[in-house]
Amino acid sequence: MSASNLPAEASALLGRLGVPAGLVTGGARPVASPITGEVIAHVHDAGPDVCAKAIDTAHAAFLSWRSVPAPRRGELVRLLGEELRAAKADLGLLVTLEAGKTISEGLGEVQEMIDICDYAVGLSRQLFGLTIATERPDHRMMETWHPIGVVGVISAFNFPVAVWSWNAALALVCGDTVVWKPSEKTPLTALAVQALYERAAKRFGDAPAGLSTVLIGGREVGEALVSAPRVRLVSATGSTAMGRAVAPILAARFARALLELGGNNAAIVGPSADLDLTLRGAAFAAMGTAGQRCTTLRRLFVHDSVYDVLIPRLKAAYASVRVGDPREDGVLVGPLIDAASHAAMERALSDARAEGGAVHGGERVIVAGQGVYVRPALVEMPAQTAVVLRETFAPILYVMRYTDLQAAIDLNNDAPQGLSSSIFTNDVREAERFCSVTGSDCGIANVNIGPSGAEIGGAFGGEKETGGGREAGSDSWKAYMRRATNTVNYGSSLPLAQGVKFDI
Ligand code: NAD
Repeated sequence: MSASNLPAEASALLGRLGVPAGLVTGGARPVASPITGEVIAHVHDAGPDVCAKAIDTAHAAFLSWRSVPAPRRGELVRLLGEELRAAKADLGLLVTLEAGKTISEGLGEVQEMIDICDYAVGLSRQLFGLTIATERPDHRMMETWHPIGVVGVISAFNFPVAVWSWNAALALVCGDTVVWKPSEKTPLTALAVQALYERAAKRFGDAPAGLSTVLIGGREVGEALVSAPRVRLVSATGSTAMGRAVAPILAARFARALLELGGNNAAIVGPSADLDLTLRGAAFAAMGTAGQRCTTLRRLFVHDSVYDVLIPRLKAAYASVRVGDPREDGVLVGPLIDAASHAAMERALSDARAEGGAVHGGERVIVAGQGVYVRPALVEMPAQTAVVLRETFAPILYVMRYTDLQAAIDLNNDAPQGLSSSIFTNDVREAERFCSVTGSDCGIANVNIGPSGAEIGGAFGGEKETGGGREAGSDSWKAYMRRATNTVNYGSSLPLAQGVKFDI
């Protein structure tokens, strides 16, 4: 496939996905494909007036949407899932063009959107509260769940569409409305998703205008969402630095924050580990998506007894993995998102060398145009030094030896972030220890699976500097609703709780 076809290819895809040409031409913001660095579109940023109007419209939409029965709201999400199924190939390819993911990863991201839609449709009939025993006769105590209002979604470049769907599918069935600020690096996929949503809304028939909106722009658009009093929940996915900026603003106005921030994920390889499985699990988790997943494996602690067997094999995999145009068959590692990302990788590798690391790989690979491609780097470190404890959003895997499991668990937990973690072992005691209260302190703790590649059925998110938010499955829906405790007296006397007397 010739590199010079990219703008035409993107334009054709956007047309098929229903994005009006005026939205992706003539704007002041250029959109580059990381595959070649070529500019493939020009989008229009939303100014402050457009942001304010979108939030007001979303609030007005909320006032009617909240009264639509939840299973009927689920019907809209079912239709959205149908549109995504029909458009999976085109949207997946657009993810590849705009974010540089391999074809399989681009399709996988859209599949994740379809999965969460299916999940949310079922959920639309299961938004239930508890009935609680009361101490007062002829009383009933229960909880009811109500929609919360306008939900602002801020998303990162590396999951340009799935993160929106984790939030939007749940928020819509919960009775909320959604205003989305995608990454400034990936506005095209967001506009395509909005076009698919609008197709679903048209088929649905009576969805209020402003139920789901996208606002294109940079950090200032995110800041507008974070500061707007009518936005009751902001779900923000991105770096810990971004979380540090938005959290105090939300706290100051007592709005809810759902933060999905940086990760520095580790895996432990025990003496009994199945090394073939470990090799595949670690290679996918560390090199997949060119190391640009929040759950990417960045630290590997290998027991001394298997280090000299596993690490030479892993080094060989690093040396032979195919780096290149993510549209080509057999390519497993596509481009970095941009030159800034490469500069951060170079800085980290230089720091690692200064801290005693032996770097294997990490060199630039010339593929096409101005695209930034690197061979993933495996770095043998003498200890968990400062560079290892910082998240560099690039394919660098730091490898260290250990002898004592609890010491390795402590090293896992020493990172300031707490997103995902794994242990590779066939020893049930080691596996259970890792998942126990004295084990991994992360939001995700896996056994014989790498830390990346979560399914939507579980709650997704992490602790400490990862922000504490949970999205997708389990009871994550509760973040998008407010809870009311109702006590109903169906008797004719008025007994007070705790035996308090107040007779007038
Ligand atoms: P980023 O922090 O640069 O940007 C993320 C989003 O936040 C963008 O839309 C950006 O415009 C917006 N933003 C930045 N500053 C803001 C501010 N002050 N106010 C409001 N909005 C602001 O992140 P990125 O480079 O796009 O993505 C990579 C980072 O995201 C990594 O740290 C990665 O670990 C993290 N990430 C986390 C998860 C997760 O679920 N925990 C998922 C994906 C990515």
